[in-house]
Amino acid sequence: MISTRRLILVLLPVLSLVGCGRLIPDAPRPFGPPPSAPAPWGGTGTGAAFSIDAPIDGGTRGAVARAAMRPEDCASVLGAARVTFTPVQDRANTEVCRIERAGTLGADYGVRSRMAPAQPVMTCRLAVALSVWRRQSVEPAAMEILGARVDQIDHMGVYACRNVNSAATGRPSAHARAAAIDIAGVRLSDGRRITITNDWHGNTPEARFLRRIRDDACAIFGTTLSPDYNRLHDDHLHLEAEDGRLCS
Ligand SMILES: [Zn+2]
Repeated sequence: MISTRRLILVLLPVLSLVGCGRLIPDAPRPFGPPPSAPAPWGGTGTGAAFSIDAPIDGGTRGAVARAAMRPEDCASVLGAARVTFTPVQDRANTEVCRIERAGTLGADYGVRSRMAPAQPVMTCRLAVALSVWRRQSVEPAAMEILGARVDQIDHMGVYACRNVNSAATGRPSAHARAAAIDIAGVRLSDGRRITITNDWHGNTPEARFLRRIRDDACAIFGTTLSPDYNRLHDDHLHLEAEDGRLCS
């Protein structure tokens, strides 16, 4: 018969080895206590007055904009919510295409879903808005309407040096400032894949889910565009975290 003390001595090295597994950023995780590993989110400002965990209401969009006005406040809001955001150096590719106050959005230790492709570079304001949307809209709406958890949010990119609607002339797109992301759909824990292309139209639960997350986005982002706006958005939601105001 092995005494309890002896069992602990035998198991201790094994248990400590289990804890050595490398954290894979942005991997899907079950709900539950987050890993206790430190993350490079930093942030020394006082922007924590705004919380990513606050439910969406009429003041959310303005609160996101104010929280992101000072880089240190913006980093602090993300850090307080355990969202990994690693600043990248400002850079200008052309006169109008530039990345400023941006960073790499890594794992959000408060959610299950991952972004795919992982590690998109975006403005801090977009990272805050996207984190609010993911926590307060996408994940709870999928559970409520589709009865499943979100494993993955599929996007079509953030930064692109181009004009609005990819026109030859006109004003530069928010993508030229890494301030907008195009969302193609989500993948659920039960294997379902919901896409704007296939599931937007009709009155199915999938369509109701997509409309709900579009409507919620309108309360968070400056500009939200869906297939209801024009044919150029038939396959994605354009979510833009700047001061423009358009919801369609
Ligand atoms: Zn877009």
